[in-house]
Amino acid sequence: MAMDKDTNVQKLKDALRKFRDDRDWAQFHDPKNLAEAISIEAAELQEHFLWKEREEAIRQLREDAHFREEVGEELADVFIFCMNFANAADMDVSSLILDKVEKSNKKYPVEKSRGKATKYNKL
Ligand SMILES: [Mg+2]
Repeated sequence: MAMDKDTNVQKLKDALRKFRDDRDWAQFHDPKNLAEAISIEAAELQEHFLWKEREEAIRQLREDAHFREEVGEELADVFIFCMNFANAADMDVSSLILDKVEKSNKKYPVEKSRGKATKYNKL
């Protein structure tokens, strides 16, 4: 099984493109549908934490193998639809993320933001 340390984003995108094309599902993978799917899968991820106390959720995620597996599946669904969106829109995920990190570095300078959860426009 592939691990983060020995795979790359292109391999993931290629595997998802093959899965999609083998089923002739590109016709359903338009940006609107995929953006909605990302949001729905993110809600499914959130549902596992709904009404739980923060400390209980952290403990369960650390110690409960079944809970951890279910959460992992929803996290995978979120990533999969993000990758499907990137494939459909011909977007390069790595440059998008690294560009965003660079922008965030400017918006949140370490000396102003360290240890604070304050939005950049309130720093
Ligand atoms: Mg799901």
